[in-house]
Amino acid sequence: MSSEGGKGVVVIVGAGPAGMTAAMELLRQSQLTPLVFEADSQVGGISKTVIYRGNRMDLGGHRFFSKSDWVMQWWQQILPLAAGDAEPSTALRITYRQQSRIFLPEIQASGESDAVMLVRERLSRIFYRRRFFDYPLRLNSGTVRNMGLTETLRIGLSYGHAQIARRSPETSLEDFLVNRFGARLYRTFFKDYTEKVWGVPCTEISSEWGAQRIKGLSVAKALAGAISRPFRLAAGTDQRKTETSLIERFLYPKFGPGQMWEEVARKVAMRGGQIHLRHRVVGIERKGQKITAVMVKDATGSQRRVACDFVVSTMPVCELITKLEPEDVDVLRIAQGLPYRDFMTVGLLVGKMTLTSRQSDPRSDGRMPPDNWIYIQEPDVKIGRLQIFNNWSPALVAKPGTIWLGLEYFCRQGDELWSMTDGRFIDYAAGELEKIGMIDRRDVLDGTVIRVPKAYPAYFGTYSEFGGVRAYLDQFSNLYPVGRNGMHRYNNQDHSMLAAKAAVGSITGVGAGKSEIWNVNAEDDYHEELDETS
Ligand SMILES: Cc1cc2nc3c(=O)[nH]c(=O)nc-3n(C[C@H](O)[C@H](O)[C@H](O)COP(=O)(O)OP(=O)(O)OC[C@H]3O[C@@H](n4cnc5c(N)ncnc54)[C@H](O)[C@@H]3O)c2cc1C
Repeated sequence: MSSEGGKGVVVIVGAGPAGMTAAMELLRQSQLTPLVFEADSQVGGISKTVIYRGNRMDLGGHRFFSKSDWVMQWWQQILPLAAGDAEPSTALRITYRQQSRIFLPEIQASGESDAVMLVRERLSRIFYRRRFFDYPLRLNSGTVRNMGLTETLRIGLSYGHAQIARRSPETSLEDFLVNRFGARLYRTFFKDYTEKVWGVPCTEISSEWGAQRIKGLSVAKALAGAISRPFRLAAGTDQRKTETSLIERFLYPKFGPGQMWEEVARKVAMRGGQIHLRHRVVGIERKGQKITAVMVKDATGSQRRVACDFVVSTMPVCELITKLEPEDVDVLRIAQGLPYRDFMTVGLLVGKMTLTSRQSDPRSDGRMPPDNWIYIQEPDVKIGRLQIFNNWSPALVAKPGTIWLGLEYFCRQGDELWSMTDGRFIDYAAGELEKIGMIDRRDVLDGTVIRVPKAYPAYFGTYSEFGGVRAYLDQFSNLYPVGRNGMHRYNNQDHSMLAAKAAVGSITGVGAGKSEIWNVNAEDDYHEELDETS
């Protein structure tokens, strides 16, 4: 064993939700010392909160919800619910993606504490044809009015046609979607958004992928369900009633998701764990089937060797494999062929928004839409979603009276969007928002750009051969790849935390071993809906 703390050292690569959970649980459950190395200058990973001139940005809009009681309680122990948002021991129904669960607030913050979670009501709508559509879409008078009766009928006819004249063989995602929803609905709602999100034409994505992943295309699914339902009913197809009246509620740290992980970091340090920011793990030493040390480079560029007994890695699995230098070149090929989608978000501070009366909503305060976020379905702009941070938590906004927005783009590192200078990109994004009638560019007060590489591990490329990578990694007795990019799995925070918990269980000998880690989030194939975008 290594000498640190006398009981052994666990190197944790990455201070995102997975790494921080692993550090905290090791300190709670063992005498081992966690040494966390984080390349970034702050903790939280993709779930960090970025502060720009006092305004706080959430990269994506992170709802805190889990089916796991363990996770819900864990979060509450770190950040209790704000006084007034819930009564202790009085059950609170929270609903998320139309799944409902009863949550028992056990701990409540006292008085004016800022270290709290808020209970938020979700509202998000679709913006298409310069109008708002409900999300999930309902086939009500508002929708027909927005779409127009003629267009609604055309979609119905096209759906009917697709049911009679099916595309065969069904090879591409386009075939898959047209066969199920009709060409018109596909072109209206699926094609542009799917291609915007993944950056690949639907004709180049396999239909099999659609069959596995269609659950993820939630905007499209909602639209398809709502619009095709009456036609399917007319055709006599059995259709279960869906309950859409439940209000979705989720938990949200007052200062954004990063507050959770900053608070965990504070507790980890208090208990003797070490967190080294601006420290990148650049190399891994192995002897036989054991990792013996990692090479770490700090912000000054100086490098040192850190001996360890265990490694919990949340770095992208392609980087981990490259650093392990496998003898089998096939393992390297698979790892390096794993695709990702990258993400950019512009924080835009505006004095006001310019929604027309047609777009106004009784739930709005008149200055901004009432939504937490809005799906931008307009084909003439590249923006994918718009976050209204004021509606996540007013504490994210520095100056009362201003509106703090997040303009989200799906992109690829090095592409046209990614390569724009920050100034140009802010201009471009503000121009898009002006084009769709949401703001007047003269009301823009300030802006910043955040680039998030590898935001989405994608399930094409060599992903179907991922078993080869897993088998190689499983050979190492003291190496635990966990988390979103660590396992190349479309994890939400809770899945990353559960994988970290399983890794700690395996290290301390109380868990069910490495298979428990891989089983997290394996049964529900696409929790995180990309266009909902987590
Ligand atoms: C747009 C968007 C919206 C989302 N919405 C939600 C939501 O509503 N709810 C939810 O629960 N989840 C959501 N998620 C998912 C959530 O962000 C992730 O599940 C979570 O952050 C993953 O945690 P992690 O620790 O596995 O990985 P990460 O957050 O990616 O953290 C990994 C860390 O490792 C560090 N690192 C990598 N390589 C090295 C190295 N070599 N050396 C040192 N450090 C390294 C990185 O800098 C990073 O800090 C969303 C994600 C996105 C992109």
